[in-house]
Amino acid sequence: MKIIMLGAPGAGKGTQAKRIAEKYSIPHISTGDIFRANIKNNTELGQKAKTYMDQGLLVPDELVVDLVVDRLSQEDAKNGYVLDGFPRTIPQAEALDTALSKKSESVDYAVDVEVPDGDIIDRMSGRRSCSQCGASYHVTFNPPKEEGVCDACGAALILREDDKPETVAKRLSVYHEQTQPLIDYYTGKGIIKEVDGTMGMDEVFDAITKILG
Ligand code: AMP
Repeated sequence: MKIIMLGAPGAGKGTQAKRIAEKYSIPHISTGDIFRANIKNNTELGQKAKTYMDQGLLVPDELVVDLVVDRLSQEDAKNGYVLDGFPRTIPQAEALDTALSKKSESVDYAVDVEVPDGDIIDRMSGRRSCSQCGASYHVTFNPPKEEGVCDACGAALILREDDKPETVAKRLSVYHEQTQPLIDYYTGKGIIKEVDGTMGMDEVFDAITKILG
């Protein structure tokens, strides 16, 4: 099963993607996570990506597409995957389709997690991420057991540079301009599935699994 998660930054698609990956035993492939790992390891790709990410801008398509196509050709992805944060532009979606059609494959579902902008801003200002393992929390909706400390590894929780309010506003406008057109793109292909992302995490997951079967 090949699934794409769509939705504004902070709509909860990452959380849902992880759960989908677990339930269907397919890898969760998050381009944001890949970039953050590269930043942490101070690779050349990480250094380039960081300048865009810190401003709330998209990393240029040419730095993203080959990375994802290469990842999809790995052994663990042969029975499917859930893509989280990719594609984010029409050229990325077209490049994905081209790469898949060479293998006579195509995307099965594009799940759009819908959340209004006002809710997104409230959610993202409360988001906290682990400085070491990247696990994510929310001060109200998904708090860690001990304030400011990661449940999984015990490291300190931080507010990601790109979750700061001014960057969130920029990311939202970038989302509307560059990523939202993908909803029409996948509607045209007949594979879009819309889910109300304002419900609780478990309800959203139930709605998604009803669709995926
Ligand atoms: P995310 O964790 O998916 O919200 O991604 C964090 C940041 O990484 C985004 O705001 C972008 O700067 C960058 N990024 C992640 N995925 C992509 C992509 N497919 N295309 C361009 N930039 C991306």
